[in-house]
Amino acid sequence: MTGDEYKQLLGVHCYLHIPFCRQRCNYCDFFLVTRQDLQERFFHALDEETILRTAPYHDRKVKTVHVGGGTPSLVPSSYLGGWLETLDGQLSLDDTVEITLEANPEDITPEKSRELVSLGINRLSLGVQSFRPEKLHALGRRHSADQASRVVAAALDLFGNVSVDLICGVEGESLDMWEQDLHAVLASGIPHVSIYMLSVEKKTKLESLVRRGMVSLPGEHEQAAMYLKACELLEEQGFLHYEVSNFSKPGFFSRYNLGCWHRESYLGFGPSAHSFTVSSQKEIRSANVSSMLRYIASPGDAVLSSEIILEKERNDERIFLGLRLSSGLLLDELSGYHQGSRGFEETLGRLRAQGLVDIRDGVLVLSRKGFLFADKVAEELMPS
Ligand code: SF4
Repeated sequence: MTGDEYKQLLGVHCYLHIPFCRQRCNYCDFFLVTRQDLQERFFHALDEETILRTAPYHDRKVKTVHVGGGTPSLVPSSYLGGWLETLDGQLSLDDTVEITLEANPEDITPEKSRELVSLGINRLSLGVQSFRPEKLHALGRRHSADQASRVVAAALDLFGNVSVDLICGVEGESLDMWEQDLHAVLASGIPHVSIYMLSVEKKTKLESLVRRGMVSLPGEHEQAAMYLKACELLEEQGFLHYEVSNFSKPGFFSRYNLGCWHRESYLGFGPSAHSFTVSSQKEIRSANVSSMLRYIASPGDAVLSSEIILEKERNDERIFLGLRLSSGLLLDELSGYHQGSRGFEETLGRLRAQGLVDIRDGVLVLSRKGFLFADKVAEELMPS
C-alpha cells in the first residue's frame, strides 16, 4: 500500500466550532460570542468556508464529526442539518461516521433530542460538570442538578452513546463531595466520562475573584487526590482510562479524539478552529481567525496562519500525544528519537524510579500518578 492509499483509508475527521453561548461561565476562556443575532450570518459563512476548504480532500471519507463550542445545542437544529448536508455533499460521510454534538443540559428537551437524532447525530457529549446544586451555582452553570440527571437518563435512552464532562476542584469542594459526583455518574450508566481539574485561566472572572481573595480553590494536592479517586472508582467499575482525562466503557471511546491524538488528519471549521492535515509529502497545521466579525465578512480567508510541521516538532508531538494515551509509546520509537543518548537512559531510569512511567512489552506508558504530570514527563522525554 502506498503512503497516499494509506492516508485515504484513514479518511479525515471534521471539527466545527460553534462559538455561541448565552453568557460566559466565570472560568471559561474559550473563543465565543453572546450575540445570538449573528447566528444566521455565521452559518452562511460556514457553508462558504466548508465548500472552499474541503475542495482538496474530495477523495477522503469523513470518519468522525465533532460539533463543539461554545454551545452547539443553542443553535436551531435546522442550521446544523444544513451544514451537515453541505459537508456530506463535499466529502461524503462514512457509513459508520461518529457525529458528536456537545450540549448543555438546559437545551436538551425531548423535541430537541429527536431533531438531533434525525440529523444523524449519534453521540451526545453533555456539559454536566456536576450533579450537586451548590457546585453548579459556584461554576455559574444555568442547569439544575435535577435537570442534569433527567437529561442524562433521557439521552441514554435515545442516543446510548453519551459522555459527560465533570469538573473537580471547585471552591469548598472536599474529596467526599467529589465522590458524590462520581457516584452519580456510576449510578446513571453513562459509558463515557471526561474529567477536568478546574484551572484558573487568564482574563476570566474566576481569575479576578481568585486574585482579589474572594475565591479560594482547593490546592494542588487536594486536586490530585480528586483525580486519583476518579481513576480508582471508575476503573473499579469497568471504565478504561484511555487518555489522561477520558474514561470509557469498552466500545464507547471518542473516535474523534482518538483520531486527533493519533495525529490523523482533521479539518476545523468556524472561528478559532484548528486543522491538521497529513499527506505523503508533508504535515500542515493551521488556525482559523479568532474574530466572529472577520470570519463572517470573509469566510474565504478564515485560515489565519499555517505552518509545515518539521521533523523535530513532529517527534515531540508524537511523544506528547502518545504519552497521554494508555496505549503509550513504543520504546524503540522513543529511543530512536534520542539516538541512544545516555542522558535519555538516565531520564527514563529516574522517571521509572519516581513511579511516573512503566514499561510493558516494549511500550512506555504513564502510571496513574504519571497521568497527573503527563505534560512534564513528556517534556523530559523530548530530545533536546
Ligand atoms: S457554556 Fe461552555 S463554552 Fe460556553 S461559556 Fe460556559 S464553559 Fe464556556
